[in-house]
Amino acid sequence: MGWAVAIHGGAGAILESLTSTHRADVEAALPELTEVAARMLRDGAAAIDAVEEAVVALEECELFQAGRGAVLSAAGAHELEASIMDGHTGGAGAACGLQTVRNPIRLARQVMERTTHVFVGGSGAEDLARAWELDRVPNAWFTTQRRLDQLRAHLADPNSGRPHPATVGAVACDRKGRLAAATSTGGTTGKLPGRIGDAPVIGAGTWADQRVAVSATGIGECFLRSGSARMVSAHMELSGASCQAASRAVLDAMPEASGGLIVVDQAGRVALPYTSQGMYRGWALESGGSGIGI
Ligand code: ASP
Repeated sequence: MGWAVAIHGGAGAILESLTSTHRADVEAALPELTEVAARMLRDGAAAIDAVEEAVVALEECELFQAGRGAVLSAAGAHELEASIMDGHTGGAGAACGLQTVRNPIRLARQVMERTTHVFVGGSGAEDLARAWELDRVPNAWFTTQRRLDQLRAHLADPNSGRPHPATVGAVACDRKGRLAAATSTGGTTGKLPGRIGDAPVIGAGTWADQRVAVSATGIGECFLRSGSARMVSAHMELSGASCQAASRAVLDAMPEASGGLIVVDQAGRVALPYTSQGMYRGWALESGGSGIGI
């Protein structure tokens, strides 16, 4: 029992491109990024605030592929998307097609707090970010050399290689047993302009209710077709399965190597299953224990 948090920095064919320097950087960053939310939860913060701040920190860290360091579309531009859900209130917010919003998860949270809508996109979403005075940056600010190299390789041979991780997320249970989930992404390398993945879709990439909080990463089309994040909760409700068994069953029912899920339940139990080669992840529990994995 007690608070619990898990974060992810994407799932996919991680090991193929992991140099020893990059591995060292990631292994140094993951505990710090997990601690962003853990510190807040330890101090009594609400789960919804902890997951938002964890995802902002992940968006700001260019090692991971959301916000700065996000992957590029086939047109060589960034189209960012994010969603957030508060399991305690049932509130949700999401945004897609963002080109200048520095922290897409902040816009998703504001959509949840300040509008009667759940999902905004494109120029209307950009207008809201401007009106609400969220930080905005030129689209090129999100670009890093690593993502340019990945796009070039993809465009040279779109069928080469397996998908690399391109999303970040966080799930948390706070001291009052409230759950929340947040997910942010640039999508997939070389995606068609206008393509929307699972990350901003409530029920596919993100879900939180009073039972469980879930953030997904992997091949978005698989998660969209399965409604995966919501499915974990439905599985728990209908079969009485634990969050570990339910999340594993949801992934096992999807195509091989689809990706991974981070999950926390109302008792502060965490599950981090994946079917891809790897998943950048970190977790911390009030009851003791923390860790990272690749
Ligand atoms: N799920 C993301 C998408 O398809 C990508 C990822 O998680 O790596 O947009």
